[in-house]
Amino acid sequence: MRKVASMLLLVGLLLVLPAQSPSSAAMLNVIDSSSNVAVYLVPHADDEVLSFGVPILNDLRAGKKVYMVLFSPGEDSIAREVINGKADEETVSSAYKPGDPVRCAWHARYHDPVAEGYLHGHVTKEEFGQARIDEFYLASQEMGVPRANLKTSILPNGQFTYDSVKSIILTYDRLFPNAQFKTFSSVDLHVDHALIGKVLDDMYAEGRINKPQTNIVSIATDRFHSHGDETEVPGYKLYLTDSADKVKLQNAVNHVYKGWDPHNGVYGLGYHSVPAQFDALLADTYTKIAAY
Ligand SMILES: [Zn+2]
Ligand SMILES: [Zn+2]
Repeated sequence: MRKVASMLLLVGLLLVLPAQSPSSAAMLNVIDSSSNVAVYLVPHADDEVLSFGVPILNDLRAGKKVYMVLFSPGEDSIAREVINGKADEETVSSAYKPGDPVRCAWHARYHDPVAEGYLHGHVTKEEFGQARIDEFYLASQEMGVPRANLKTSILPNGQFTYDSVKSIILTYDRLFPNAQFKTFSSVDLHVDHALIGKVLDDMYAEGRINKPQTNIVSIATDRFHSHGDETEVPGYKLYLTDSADKVKLQNAVNHVYKGWDPHNGVYGLGYHSVPAQFDALLADTYTKIAAY
């Protein structure tokens, strides 16, 4: 009797599962089952160079297959207002009202999208987000990660939540069942960075992820934040295993994140956003690895 019941249950499951969600069934197709795979979970376009660049180049140098998943273009950056020369209705910063002028310190002027012949004219938030994703693709390829290894699972504005992050990681865990997943430490001071680290830590504790690495500290947290009364995050500086790889980071910064060709829709958004962080990375090329 029990056997019949479990047979019925099995048949029921077989009937239910494929109908449940064709898209999730399609996602079950494994892309790479090798254990020599590192999957970097990238919160925003630019993190892959600024904070993951050194570990990514070292993984490539060690012969690992590197994949990346981008979660968000980082469209809330002030760089959009800087290249537009002014704030508008989509501006999120409470420091600016629509129409307020915003000066570019890099180019030492107020940009004018029409006079300067921008491909997009005044750049909307959506166009800005797409241009940031383009920078992510190009910069990653400059580091030597093929385009086919670059994935995006873009979360809509306001959807950077524990559950949405977890469901993305679960998807990629199915696609790369033996990979090492790598991301920021949960002690990172940027909430999006810390959230992905926290989710990955929890998934490891639940036995869902084999071997995460969640001790990378963002360059912003490491070098540009006051840690108040607390001492800095304990850990060590990870340098390039082969200093010849530095030219790849220089190319990613100089060709992509500082690329300026507005007629063709190339706006140097990374450098317009956080110039001091790119300068600091090239001046002293290391990534902080937290001790825990
Ligand atoms: Zn980030
Ligand atoms: Zn500028």
